[in-house]
Amino acid sequence: MQEATMSFKARAKEALADPTLKIAIDRTTGTAERKRAVAMTQFPQFEAARERGKRIKDHVIANLDHYLLEFERNAIASGAKVHWARTAEEASQIVVRLCKEAGAKRVTRVKSMLGEEIGLPHALDEAGIERVETDLAEHIVQLGGDRPSHIVWPSMHRTREQVSEMFKRLHRAPHQEETIEAMVDSARRELRDKFLTADVAISGANFLVADTGATCTVTNEGNAELTTTPPRVHIVTAGIEKLVPSTEHALLLLRLLVRSATGADVTQYTTFHCGPKQTGDRDGPEEFHIVLVDNGRTRMLREGMKEMLRCIRCGACMNHCVVFRQLGGHVYGGTYPGPMGAVLTPVFDGLESSRDLPHACTMNGKCQEVCPVAIPLPTLLRGWRDRSWREGLEPATVRFGLGIHTFVASRPRLYRLGTAIAIRVMRLFSRGGLVKGMPGLGAWTAYREFPAPAKRTFMEMYKDQEKGQ
Ligand code: SF4
Repeated sequence: MQEATMSFKARAKEALADPTLKIAIDRTTGTAERKRAVAMTQFPQFEAARERGKRIKDHVIANLDHYLLEFERNAIASGAKVHWARTAEEASQIVVRLCKEAGAKRVTRVKSMLGEEIGLPHALDEAGIERVETDLAEHIVQLGGDRPSHIVWPSMHRTREQVSEMFKRLHRAPHQEETIEAMVDSARRELRDKFLTADVAISGANFLVADTGATCTVTNEGNAELTTTPPRVHIVTAGIEKLVPSTEHALLLLRLLVRSATGADVTQYTTFHCGPKQTGDRDGPEEFHIVLVDNGRTRMLREGMKEMLRCIRCGACMNHCVVFRQLGGHVYGGTYPGPMGAVLTPVFDGLESSRDLPHACTMNGKCQEVCPVAIPLPTLLRGWRDRSWREGLEPATVRFGLGIHTFVASRPRLYRLGTAIAIRVMRLFSRGGLVKGMPGLGAWTAYREFPAPAKRTFMEMYKDQEKGQ
């Protein structure tokens, strides 16, 4: 069955049954978690920086109209052309039109989640324009014909052994040795001439700097610089929430972003693009376009989700999410996976089709704890759950079950009787400290451990204590 037509639960079941996927997820998220932990010990100002980052983003979001116009004014003054897109379709149509006007046969692209969000890869393919993904992980995704599964490591769903096999099958001059360096060389050989012969470069932006009109892009491979320099035209697509007042603010947020994403102090490459090539410049594009995309962001402001606009796309929330680490990113179905995706996908795709996502959360709060701009992800997820309930989107079985629970839980005697019976029944199915094979609990115990009830309940121990025993 096609992934897109499967339900969240069916996709989750498939992912859980794939042991290679689990190895791939563990390798990436485990490394990310460890590196971030080390980075935090070396960055004692993290909490203060986080508070400041949060304040910067909140200030920009509260004054979005002002900063958008300031950015537009300064970008135009630097020679850029600014385009506004209300929806994903509008944004991808603008980019495709600009590519066609430039007579583009081949475009090179720098990894950008916004590009995925607006369906740009598909729109370019439909328009018959050859698309070359230049980020190594996106190159792997393109070769595999699949979608990114993580916002920082798009190909984390593949092990290096799988990637090696794919390179050998699909590269023109593949590697011979089974080393990472040899594989990277293979990708370099495959991509190098394409970098140099592209007609248009398309990138995203990590920040839009209002007081200079510059766009800021960070990479660890240098592919953004190599992508955006040779072609005659450079197009940047960016969500309107990427604004910051000044370069100084961008650099502060960058410190938070990099440590949270990869655990490094700085990214290998940080580039500010400001307008097209000027007289006397040795290289750079002759045309520089910036497409500013709303696609639901102003609606998030109106609908009480403005905290989510703080997101700087670091991926830390998914690296620390117990659900994501079991399932990987594809299961979430939308562009953005993990906790932030579970908040964003209902905004982009509608709550009805993504109702399961806000429920794919244990509410352990780890995502909020590691988020470098302190987004209250569990609260936002709970907001979607409430709305799903109010709009009658929960299945009849859930409504019936919760109705019974409400009835019983609001009658203490009945509740105590019910739990006493449930505990006794569970003890009948307890083996080795775990409940196993109990009818009605199969969906829970198929993939998780359900601890056997304690010998004495909390209420029994509390009563003893009250009696002084
Ligand atoms: S929600 Fe927070 S932790 Fe998750 S990607 Fe965005 S900034 Fe990073």
